[in-house]
Amino acid sequence: MEIRSSYDVIVVGAGIAGISAAVKAGRSGASVLLVEQYGFVGGMSTAGMVSPFMKHTVNGEVLVRGVFEDIEREMRAQNGMIDNGFYAHAFRSASFKLLSEAGCTMLLHAVIAGVQRNADRIESISILVAGRMVTVAGTVFIDTSGDAQLLFLAGLPWAKGDETSGKLQALTLFFRMGNIDLKKVTDYAVANRQEFFDWMDRSFDLTRIISVAGYFSTVKKAIAEGRLSADVQYIFFTTLPGSGEGSFNTSNILALDGSSSVDLTNAELAGRTQVHQVVTLLKNEVPGFENSYLIETAPQVGVRETRRAVGDYAVTGDDIKRGRKFDDSIARGCYGIDIHGQKDEESRMEHLPEGDYYEIPLRALLVKEAVNVLVAGRCISSTREGHSALRIQPTSSATGEACGALAALAARSNVPVRAVDVRTVQQQILHNITQR
Ligand SMILES: Cc1cc2nc3c(=O)[nH]c(=O)nc-3n(C[C@H](O)[C@H](O)[C@H](O)COP(=O)(O)OP(=O)(O)OC[C@H]3O[C@@H](n4cnc5c(N)ncnc54)[C@H](O)[C@@H]3O)c2cc1C
Repeated sequence: MEIRSSYDVIVVGAGIAGISAAVKAGRSGASVLLVEQYGFVGGMSTAGMVSPFMKHTVNGEVLVRGVFEDIEREMRAQNGMIDNGFYAHAFRSASFKLLSEAGCTMLLHAVIAGVQRNADRIESISILVAGRMVTVAGTVFIDTSGDAQLLFLAGLPWAKGDETSGKLQALTLFFRMGNIDLKKVTDYAVANRQEFFDWMDRSFDLTRIISVAGYFSTVKKAIAEGRLSADVQYIFFTTLPGSGEGSFNTSNILALDGSSSVDLTNAELAGRTQVHQVVTLLKNEVPGFENSYLIETAPQVGVRETRRAVGDYAVTGDDIKRGRKFDDSIARGCYGIDIHGQKDEESRMEHLPEGDYYEIPLRALLVKEAVNVLVAGRCISSTREGHSALRIQPTSSATGEACGALAALAARSNVPVRAVDVRTVQQQILHNITQR
């Protein structure tokens, strides 16, 4: 594989947003370079081992289709997905296949380390590849690094955390366990209602994905006896395609910033300590886990929130809660405000009224002070509340796909991203927007 000196579209970061952007731009005929620091793609979906996909259906209508559904279809074909839960390995290979078929050039094990900017235009990026710096020019750049790395390095505007306190959402290291006796687990959950969250569906059809969340008094006792970090609030897992396997979204790492290497290092250590404590607790004290074992911890701690772009429009919590619609809509979502609280901060989950959804305007993908830069996924322009809803995987895929469509159109005509007619973009992604 040869890396060319320039591309129509350069995508920084191969999480679900970057993959969706690259695939769409590639399918639209653009030459695409996708740069990723790890040796695999998927970001939080694989490095973070986040599963399942959050809700993206309203009144039976699927709000996110396109590249997102292609990833799902490829994972199901490998028996790597059950309902909305999936394996990281299936996500990786599904995405590699789609990216290759779309003709995208992938550069893995490559860290973006510098940006060359001329006034309101990014000209090129410097990438650290095997200890040497390579410079590649581009017509349009898409920041899907999760941490707005491209904007940060370019000196373009970004925001971080809560507008008043600066707080960032808690971090979580995912892990996976096997040989769980799910019948025993669910019998216990049915018999001990008060130990679990009310929202839990207790019909427990074991041929489908199930969620188990709570074990309140077990957790409380272990914390009181010094056997579990006081930051862990409850035990939460969902099942995976393999019988008896669970994906745990349980560790709770506070007061650390996921865009700082020093804080991330501390988070990796704290997360692994918590996982060890939780696994020991489950095996020794929780019915159904007697013969279970830890299969793996995620390669990296899960980061919910760091920097986000300051764009032409910032999607607000109000837009989410009121199900606001926009003429320049490029994606839809129905997931509510979901803030995993910090020290001295309550967690918040605020759902939309049943059956409602919101739209995401194209202007939230456009970065202030830049004519050839777009953002998607976690980097989208939003307030902290807006971000907490838009960050989920289906929505990140939809905003990524919209960026890919817009970037390819702008590159083909060699015009600033704002010069592309929004209706032309919408035509390319009709499957993700309300028919107008
Ligand atoms: C603990 C946790 C639980 C969650 N639970 C759910 C859930 O149940 N369901 C759901 O749908 N969503 C969930 N989410 C949200 C969702 O997983 C993420 O917000 C979403 O996957 C983000 O996708 P992204 O593509 O924007 O960013 P990321 O997945 O973060 O991808 C960014 C990519 O950029 C790369 N990168 C960064 N900097 C550089 C650089 N300088 N050079 C090269 N590459 C770089 C990274 O390695 C990474 O691959 C959860 C998130 C977390 C952390």
